Amino acid sequence: MSGLDLFEDLGDQKTRISLDSQDLPQLLTSETAAYESDCDCACSSTPFTITTAKPTETQFSTSPDTYTSPLRQGFHLAFSPFAPAGPSVLNPAAWRRYQAFTQNPQPLTEAIDRELAQQNLLIPISRPPQIQPAASEQLTAWLHVTNACNLDCPYCYVRKSSAHMNLQTGLNAVESLFTAAHRQGLPGIKLKYAGGEATLHFSLIQKLHDRALQLSEQTGLTLREVVLSNGVALTPTMLDWFERTQARLMISLDGLGSVHDHQRPLKGGGASFAQVVHTLENLVKPRQIDLHLSVTVTGASAPYLAELVSWILAHDWPFSLNFYRQTPLSADRHELELEEQAIISGMQAAYKVIEQNLPDRPLLNGLLDKVQSQAHTHTCGVGQTYAVITHTGQLSQCQMQLDNPVSDRVNPHTLLPLLAKGPIQNLSVQEKLGCQSCTYRYRCTGGCPVETFRVTGRWDVKSPNCGVYQALYPELLRLEGLRLLNVHGY
Ligand code: SF4
Ligand code: SF4
Repeated sequence: MSGLDLFEDLGDQKTRISLDSQDLPQLLTSETAAYESDCDCACSSTPFTITTAKPTETQFSTSPDTYTSPLRQGFHLAFSPFAPAGPSVLNPAAWRRYQAFTQNPQPLTEAIDRELAQQNLLIPISRPPQIQPAASEQLTAWLHVTNACNLDCPYCYVRKSSAHMNLQTGLNAVESLFTAAHRQGLPGIKLKYAGGEATLHFSLIQKLHDRALQLSEQTGLTLREVVLSNGVALTPTMLDWFERTQARLMISLDGLGSVHDHQRPLKGGGASFAQVVHTLENLVKPRQIDLHLSVTVTGASAPYLAELVSWILAHDWPFSLNFYRQTPLSADRHELELEEQAIISGMQAAYKVIEQNLPDRPLLNGLLDKVQSQAHTHTCGVGQTYAVITHTGQLSQCQMQLDNPVSDRVNPHTLLPLLAKGPIQNLSVQEKLGCQSCTYRYRCTGGCPVETFRVTGRWDVKSPNCGVYQALYPELLRLEGLRLLNVHGY
C-alpha cells in the first residue's frame, strides 16, 4: 500500500495522505483497560489467554464471527471474539489486506498480516485460537458491614435493620480471607465494604482496613479496597481518610435531581440528590480521591441517562452503568423493570453523549452492565474467587443471596470449596445455550447467572438481557474505535 493508494481512498483530504507513511501504524489496537471499573458485585478476575499459531506454519483466513464496521475516512473497526483486548482499527491499507484473506486464505507475508494475526483477526484455517484459563489474580470479598441504611431505595436487596458487623467478626473474616488466598496461591485480596450504608460504621471500616494492611505487608499479598456508599453522610474526616489510604470510594448516582431522588429516597422519604452532589462537589472534588460513580439503570431512569452521563463527563469522573436486577423486595416495583427498547434507547442516547466527549481512557469496561473488555469466560467470580461475608460472619456466594448462606462461619480451609459447591451455578459462557457462537461471548459471557435463573429457571442459557447486549455492544465497540482514532490524532 502506498501513500497514493490512500489518497485515492480519501478523495481530496490531503492531510490524510500521511497515514500510510512508514512511521504511522496501520492498525490501532485497544489495550486492556488499565483502569479497573467497579460495580456492586465481583467481575471475573479469571480472564483466559488465547494461544496464537506460529505465523509461518499454515494458511490464514479471517474468522466468520468477526464483527466489522466502517468508521470514518476509510478506517474500519474489526473485532474478533478471540481478540486479546478490545477491537482494532484498520486503516485503508490494513483493511484491504484483511479483505484479501477473506477472499483467499494465504500465508502471512507482510508485517501487517502478522499484526492482524496477533489480534486474531487472521486465524489459521486448520486450527482456531485455543482458550486457556489464566490464573486468578485475587480473592474478592464483600464485607457486609451493616444492614442499616439512611436511604430506602426500592431496588435494594438488603432487609434493613440496625444490625451490623462487630469488630471481632470483621477481624476474623479479614484474617480468614488472607489465609485462604495465601493457601490457594492467589496473589491479592480485594475487600468491598458494603451494606446497607457501610459508612454508618466508619470506625469499623478503618479498623478492618488497618488489619488488612498489616496482613498485606506480612504476606506480600496485594490489597485493594473499595467502600460502597450512597454519598449522603460522608464527612470531611472520612474523605481525608480516603485521600490518605487511597481506598476507592464508590458512590451510587442514578440520575440528576428528581430522577435520583425517585430511585434513592431518604429513609422516611425526602430527597438525597442535593446531599450527594454536596459530597461530590465540596468534599470529594478538592481532594485526590479514587472515586468511582456507580449508576443503576432502571426502566424509570433510562430516559434520563444521557443528561446524567453528560454531567458526569463534565466532571471527568469514572463511572459504570449497571442494569437493575429484580429482587424479592422489589418485585412489585414494575416501573423499574428493564423494558428492552427503553433501555436500548436510553443507553444509545448516553453513548451519543460519550461520542461527543470521548475520554482518553479505554471505554469498554463498565459501560454496558457486566460486559468487560478483557476476554473472559465467567461473568463474575461467584463459585470461584468471590466471597460474601454477612454481618454475622456467615458465608454466601453473592450479595443477592445474603439470606441463603453456604456456611454459618468463615473457615479459611473450607472457604473456597464451600463457595464452589453453593447453589448458584456460575457456568462458563461456553456452556450457555444461545451464547456459544455469539461474537461477544467472551466479553458478555451470558450475563448475571442469578438474574438469568430468576427469569428462566435455568443456569445454562443466555441472559434475559441478551437483546440489549446484542444491540449495544456493537455501538460500544464503535465508540472505542472512534476513541482510538482520536487518541492517535486521526
Ligand atoms: S447473552 Fe447474548 S450477547 Fe451475551 S454472550 Fe450470550 S448470546 Fe452473546
Ligand atoms: S451472580 Fe450476578 S449479582 Fe451475584 S456477583 Fe455474579 S453478576 Fe453479581
